[in-house]
Amino acid sequence: MSDTDTRDPTSLRTPIVAVLGHVDHGKTSLLDKIRGSAVIEGEAGAITQHIGATAVPLDIISSIAGDLVDPDDFDLPGLLFIDTPGHHSFTTLRSRGGALADIAILVVDVNDGFQPQTLEALDILRRSQTPFIVAANKIDTVPGWNASEDSPINDTYESQSDRVRQRLDERLYEIIGNLSDEGFSADLYWRVQNFQRNVGVVPVSAMTGEGVPDLLTVMMGLSQRYMKEEMEIDVTGPGVGTVLEVKEEKGFGTTIDTVLYDGTIRADDQLVVGGMNEPIVTDVRALLQPRPLAEIRTESRFEKVDEVSAAAGIKVAAPELANAMAGAPVRVVRDRDLDDVIEEVQAELADIAVDTAEE
Ligand code: GDP
Repeated sequence: MSDTDTRDPTSLRTPIVAVLGHVDHGKTSLLDKIRGSAVIEGEAGAITQHIGATAVPLDIISSIAGDLVDPDDFDLPGLLFIDTPGHHSFTTLRSRGGALADIAILVVDVNDGFQPQTLEALDILRRSQTPFIVAANKIDTVPGWNASEDSPINDTYESQSDRVRQRLDERLYEIIGNLSDEGFSADLYWRVQNFQRNVGVVPVSAMTGEGVPDLLTVMMGLSQRYMKEEMEIDVTGPGVGTVLEVKEEKGFGTTIDTVLYDGTIRADDQLVVGGMNEPIVTDVRALLQPRPLAEIRTESRFEKVDEVSAAAGIKVAAPELANAMAGAPVRVVRDRDLDDVIEEVQAELADIAVDTAEE
């Protein structure tokens, strides 16, 4: 925690991923599947459970994806999934006026097709100009499906009968047609050359894990190819984040669960946090991460850490947080002028107020 940080100040952070889609189309199951696969593939501790988010490092993605991913092709460190799916969290969580998520997965049930919340989600993605891919979920429910757990889509596709393949194709093309009706040119992901122009559709099953290797590969490729510049941050600089949730925590008082998307936050930092009436100026009392399950006995569920760098989910305990708001900005002051930081936070709060009024 010294001021002479020897790390390369410019480094690439993890892209932040949000999952959207109609209720019951499988958002939660898909996140659970990704988390579960990552735990199975990883050595203990390889997947890090953050507060409100799950980090899946590149080496885990490449072991899940097998031949689909060569880790040498990538220098982004992995993907950080926000644990709360749905568009409420997507629209309330912002960064500097834009969406907090850098990239999104829109989940569509292949049987149920487009539904009202699918359209709402598309509208939100369009307005926030968030790149996304479509997970065409529940492919295992196609009548006659022959499941092969956790397989890449190509392998599992090969092992289906012609009838089944045809049924799946029909459903996938219907989704592609629906996307096109909404003004998004889309295709099956392996046919997409330019993911900036076309939306890739990835057939998956959150139940059997089929297509999950493809989904992770496409997300990683898309981020690496089109978002690398935005991921370049000053890791050692003063942290910038967004409040996910304000929570009372036994022994710590009011805490803010925060997604950090730039810089570092340290246990001795001064913070400015967006409040209901005005920015709150406070000092970090503790930075808390979930304690690994194996270590939980009578101790706290959390462990204190000295510092965290973006992108990460962290619980911050500090005085005066009772009026903090979900969706509000958090900024570390460090060696800057406090009034300037307060002004920045005020400006961001004003942006949020305008956006909320428009909705
Ligand atoms: P959410 O509301 O979008 O988060 O949807 P959930 O993840 O809660 O899923 C809704 C229901 O669909 C649950 O009963 C899941 O078990 C089921 N489900 C989700 N994904 C799949 C899938 O890929 N295949 C099958 N067969 N069922 C699924």
